[in-house]
Amino acid sequence: MAETILVVDDSRIDSAYLAKMLGEYAVVSAASGAEMWQALEKVTPSIILMDVVLPGDDGFQIAKTLSGIDRFADIPIIFITSKDAGRDVEQGFESGGVDYIKKPYNEIELRARIRSALQKKRREMDLREKTITDPLTGVHNRRYFFEYLDKAIEHARRNRSRVFSVAMLDIDHFKRINDTMGHQAGDFVLRQLAEHLAKSIRPYDLLARYGGEEFIILFKDCDRKESGEILRRIKDDVSRTGFRFNETPVRITFSSGISDLNDIPADGATAEGLVRLSDERLYRAKESGRDRIVIDAVP
Ligand code: GH3
Ligand code: MG
Ligand code: MG
Repeated sequence: MAETILVVDDSRIDSAYLAKMLGEYAVVSAASGAEMWQALEKVTPSIILMDVVLPGDDGFQIAKTLSGIDRFADIPIIFITSKDAGRDVEQGFESGGVDYIKKPYNEIELRARIRSALQKKRREMDLREKTITDPLTGVHNRRYFFEYLDKAIEHARRNRSRVFSVAMLDIDHFKRINDTMGHQAGDFVLRQLAEHLAKSIRPYDLLARYGGEEFIILFKDCDRKESGEILRRIKDDVSRTGFRFNETPVRITFSSGISDLNDIPADGATAEGLVRLSDERLYRAKESGRDRIVIDAVP
């Protein structure tokens, strides 16, 4: 599928010309900031080509606004404009543009600059993907979980939104699998469990590998009792079916501790605080016999 380029330019002639010239991309045009916001509801462009002088907000202001909105902040912006003073170029970069092209532009140069910006963006995304992914299982890693949890707490604080919970889970006697069947079998079980968890939770929940044989899940809009019920079904499923490593059946159980925003209200909650509480409950699940989920404070 062709990458989408969004052209924001109040001259219909200029944007039609660009659209024709950039025929290998899907080009969407907007004649003002207002039209651009509308377009962004329907398409996620790989890059924005932005005129500076526009009716309403100018290109620099629009770029600044975009950079403050999470889902748009990473879209590279190239300014294409006849404003050619040094101060204009400087302002373009200051407002978050990745490049600044003066009209009249050279077509070959313009295309090369677009390709280069797209490549740079892809490299950055690949790198970002690597820094937030657990290489063994392909699920998110602890770093990403904490970033996400920080944001979720912040969001709950501002919006008095519904509760969410944090479930820490740890495979029981996992060391035995490594010891009896080998490390490869252990790795296999970790991958299989991650896959099973990922497909058992809802799309808006977040799963991450916390470390070793520990996983962590953020259950959105669920208190710890509700999350506990979801997780219990998953746990029963896993322990009943098990996995198969090179034709050899492998049975596992896991233990879990869950905390939620009723334990620590959003105003006082920190990511570390919630995770610590889940971890304490996980410890009690282990102490009291494993293969169970603890959601409550010490009775
Ligand atoms: P418990 O029920 O108390 O949790 O016992 P356990 O054996 O699961 O826990 P323990 O902490 O004693 O051992 C965890 C083991 O997990 C030890 C470690 O070698 C293994 N492990 C950690 N990361 C990996 C990994 O990436 N691959 C494999 N195969 N093993 C791992
Ligand atoms: Mg364990
Ligand atoms: Mg462990």
